[in-house]
Amino acid sequence: MLIIFDKDNTLVQNPAAGRPANTLDEQALFPDVLDKCRQLRAEGHTLAIASNQGGVAFGHFDHHAAVLLVKSVAEAIEADLYAVCVTHPRGTVKRAKRDSRFRKPNPGMLHYLMDALGFAPDETLYVGDMESDRQAAEAAGVRFAWAWEFFGRQHGVSADRLPEI
Ligand SMILES: [Mg+2]
Repeated sequence: MLIIFDKDNTLVQNPAAGRPANTLDEQALFPDVLDKCRQLRAEGHTLAIASNQGGVAFGHFDHHAAVLLVKSVAEAIEADLYAVCVTHPRGTVKRAKRDSRFRKPNPGMLHYLMDALGFAPDETLYVGDMESDRQAAEAAGVRFAWAWEFFGRQHGVSADRLPEI
């Protein structure tokens, strides 16, 4: 099975409520992530990450930094591939101010990862913390799990539903 994870507030703890990590120094994995991902790989699952990084569209960091944020987590969990969307329809950086078929809740990143890795929708699970994650999974026709349920976390610890940028 292909298991695709959202990054912020799913694999990486938000440094403040509703605000995802903007720098590598701010990025800390939830303590249960490495063991769980190691177990999943041992069971033969393929791991990937699909992450909105709309902070680029607001000038919080640039495209390169956004890729590095996601890449570092992908390397930590030994994901086979990752996808990053830097656009935001209300952004302030002209180049990134738009919606995109890749921006969740659109399914583009999930489609890309399934296509690139050779998995059908019925062989794919998406794990995330936001309603837009659930909607992206629904639009892609794949199963969805809330992060706190998938990792067996106490509900509320990661139930941060404030708007994600
Ligand atoms: Mg998230």
